[in-house]
Amino acid sequence: MNNQQKHAITGCLLGTAVGDALGLACEGLSRRRQRKMFPVLNGYKLLFGKGMTSDDTEHTCMLAQSVIQHSNAAGDAQEKKIFSCFAWRLRFWLLGLPAGIGLATLRSIIKLWMGFPAHRSGVFSAGNGPAMRCAFIGIYYGDDPARMRAMVRAATRITHTDPKAEYGAFTVALAAQMAASGTDITPASFLHALQQHIDNTEFIALIQSVTDSVAQGQSCELFADSIGCSKGVSGYMYHTIPCVLHVWLTNQRDYRAAVTTMIRLGGDADTTAAILGAIVGARVGKVGIPPEWLSDLCEWPRTVTWIEQLAVRLAQSAPNKISAPLWVNPLNLLFRNIFFMIIVLMHGFRRLLPPY
Ligand SMILES: [Mg+2]
Repeated sequence: MNNQQKHAITGCLLGTAVGDALGLACEGLSRRRQRKMFPVLNGYKLLFGKGMTSDDTEHTCMLAQSVIQHSNAAGDAQEKKIFSCFAWRLRFWLLGLPAGIGLATLRSIIKLWMGFPAHRSGVFSAGNGPAMRCAFIGIYYGDDPARMRAMVRAATRITHTDPKAEYGAFTVALAAQMAASGTDITPASFLHALQQHIDNTEFIALIQSVTDSVAQGQSCELFADSIGCSKGVSGYMYHTIPCVLHVWLTNQRDYRAAVTTMIRLGGDADTTAAILGAIVGARVGKVGIPPEWLSDLCEWPRTVTWIEQLAVRLAQSAPNKISAPLWVNPLNLLFRNIFFMIIVLMHGFRRLLPPY
């Protein structure tokens, strides 16, 4: 993996975490209520200016750990080993009491515990869960489009089997791969690249509505309004992906502006900002992420340094080289999750109070 790809993969993983943490306090709030509760959005609103991450970052890290662990396995066996490993990580992740788990993901992990294998555990859903973990796949397997497609498919189907979910997850991986090139991507060139991989006319028409809107200079808010997301961006893949792409194509070089615009669209803000943060992070790298957003990320045991190490190992592991996986102590994770659950519950109660 060359230096540009290392820079991109580090920015992608850190960009996921920072976007996730910034969006978290706004998750599920409408555009209007969010502006009333947080008139200024220049830092974390979770805990006295400090931020914590959620399932979006955890799933990305667990998938990256699984890829590192089995990067030296040969051919088709590699994919099977990676997803068997990822499935075990998901099973134990559920035992660690994660706050705010998506319904399709919960049902799929219960199926995994019941004995279903990773390729049969998914449920029919077009939720945005798979899109939040697939960005780095585009950078990691970018030199081999068929492999990238197969990896995104497996990463999607472990929890979501609706083809819409796979189209969305692949679009994110492709966007991250193109952003990682370090050049500005025109809306037309992105659409053209996507058409080489996906031929579903409904999905392509939806993405064309994004690229046309960006080319015409329409604002992200007006575009979101036009696809029925005027109150907030829902967790449906066909709402999340068009809005993320619009914000990305409009703010490719400016992480701060991109993530702030994304969160201000309301709705599933932690996941939309995590996906967008991964794509823009792949372009700008760690240096392009505001330093105070990195230093105010109050995460443990998956600290900013830990995520950076994960990115380094991921970069070292490609292609097909052995690299030691990066572990976290499960007991530490359990303590962290109990603390996190208390914070999330406090935010839930806080929302019952004005301003409305
Ligand atoms: Mg989340």
